[in-house]
Amino acid sequence: MTRSTDKTRVGVQINTATGFVRRLKRDDLTSADAPAPAHDPGGLLRALVTAQDWRTGAAFEAEGVAAAAALRAGGSPGAAGGIYQSLADCYANLGQHAHAFTLYEQARAAFEAAGDNAGIGSACRNLGACYANLGQNAQALPLHELALASYQAVGDRAGVGSACEALMQCCSNLARFDHALAWGEQARAAYEAVGDREGLSRACRFLGAQYTNTGQPVRALPLLELERAACEATGNRGGVGWACEALGSCYFNMRQYDRALPLYEQARAAYKAAGDRASEARVYQRLVNLASCFTNRSGDVVHLGGSLGGHGGFTRLSPDKIWYCGKQKNECKCGSCDGRCGPHKGCPCEDCFDFMQKHRQMHQMHQQQQQLFQ
Ligand SMILES: [Zn+2]
Ligand SMILES: [Zn+2]
Repeated sequence: MTRSTDKTRVGVQINTATGFVRRLKRDDLTSADAPAPAHDPGGLLRALVTAQDWRTGAAFEAEGVAAAAALRAGGSPGAAGGIYQSLADCYANLGQHAHAFTLYEQARAAFEAAGDNAGIGSACRNLGACYANLGQNAQALPLHELALASYQAVGDRAGVGSACEALMQCCSNLARFDHALAWGEQARAAYEAVGDREGLSRACRFLGAQYTNTGQPVRALPLLELERAACEATGNRGGVGWACEALGSCYFNMRQYDRALPLYEQARAAYKAAGDRASEARVYQRLVNLASCFTNRSGDVVHLGGSLGGHGGFTRLSPDKIWYCGKQKNECKCGSCDGRCGPHKGCPCEDCFDFMQKHRQMHQMHQQQQQLFQ
């Protein structure tokens, strides 16, 4: 069957389903009443799932289960599996995971009777998702592994990606981070192969965060750069903020503060543009911490001088453009300072002057420090 006739068929089914719903509403059917019998329960339920009308779909449970039982008895277990699956989807989307679970189990049994690997794969994946939603990750693991095997058997790479991602999430929830990373890498490869950008983005985010948190910034950096580029391409500002913040944290952990600074700045701007004030405040705190990491060659933390006037000694610069360590160094070169290197005005000491010269992005940092300390 070609894609276009498939679409037409789904369209007809949605129209049929919408007609049903309209009729139900017109007849002012209360929840105590049974829905009008459907001519084709399987088709109707598929259409309702496509239309995401979970409530109406669930209302057809009795009729759907009866039709599925008849199909199984009549030697069409695959079609029966489809009906159970549609009903289960409705309950899962209504948040009734325990009930969805029993229906997915029936779908799985029917697909197994039909030898339908794709059906088994999706039933197992959904069973695993039910367990995960009920907080039972250990029980979800073997089901996701079964789903993976089924998808591999039919060569469904998108399915392989989703199963690996589900395994990644389960292992992460169970604090098995090494396993989570391995599954994440497999999910990433599968999504990359089928060109699923959203899936790839989720895998990159997970892996990037895990590598960052486990002190492996060199592995995290290329993934985070990929994620930043993907978010920039789709105009996802919050995503750009997240990626820049994570990149900044990598460089911060590597003690490359000059590289962390502009990234945190970009993160802050992106969060601001996205209206995410909590994240903006978090990055501001990172910037404050970062500022205390700028040290001169003697290891003393340096800050910019004050902006309330005064002179910059021999540098002839305004003190708010000079970095000071605040120590009594007696290294005044203009003859009018008290010998202290700052902290607000006067000659900087040799170490602090050296720091200033080494930093090419002086102006950028000056602006930064002004925002932080004034
Ligand atoms: Zn100094
Ligand atoms: Zn001086």
